[in-house]
Amino acid sequence: MKARYDDLDKDIINTPPIHTLTWWQTEIHQLAIEKGWWPHIVVGDKVEAAHKILDGSVAIPTSVIIEKLCLIHAEVSEALEFLRYEKMSLDKIQYMGGSKPEGFSIELADVVIRILDLCCALDINIEEAIRVKHEYNKTRPYRHGNKTA
Ligand SMILES: [Mg+2]
Repeated sequence: MKARYDDLDKDIINTPPIHTLTWWQTEIHQLAIEKGWWPHIVVGDKVEAAHKILDGSVAIPTSVIIEKLCLIHAEVSEALEFLRYEKMSLDKIQYMGGSKPEGFSIELADVVIRILDLCCALDINIEEAIRVKHEYNKTRPYRHGNKTA
């Protein structure tokens, strides 16, 4: 028997789908390729993931990986600058003179987006890496190494 629309839970219907980090890696990297941020992995008129070009070996030069790491760092710095100069709440997203979202959380999103983009390009399963490191972190002592932060 088919459920009537009125009988369905509206909260579930209106909730956006939840995706895994692995899904986001692929989605974000494909968009980055389409927007021209990975020109060095376009072969002819065919766009391929870099790791597929050389039959399983990563075709992305180390200098490009370094460039991508610098850009991740730049996004962290943008978040820091936002924290230093902006007075609005950290979770607020605002639109200043157009459709571009701005805010501390948006800068943190840029950090995550760039990391996921790089992970997909390098065929890194960051979801698995996070799981492994988180499980290890659970075994570490309180403030291991007597660090202050
Ligand atoms: Mg940014």
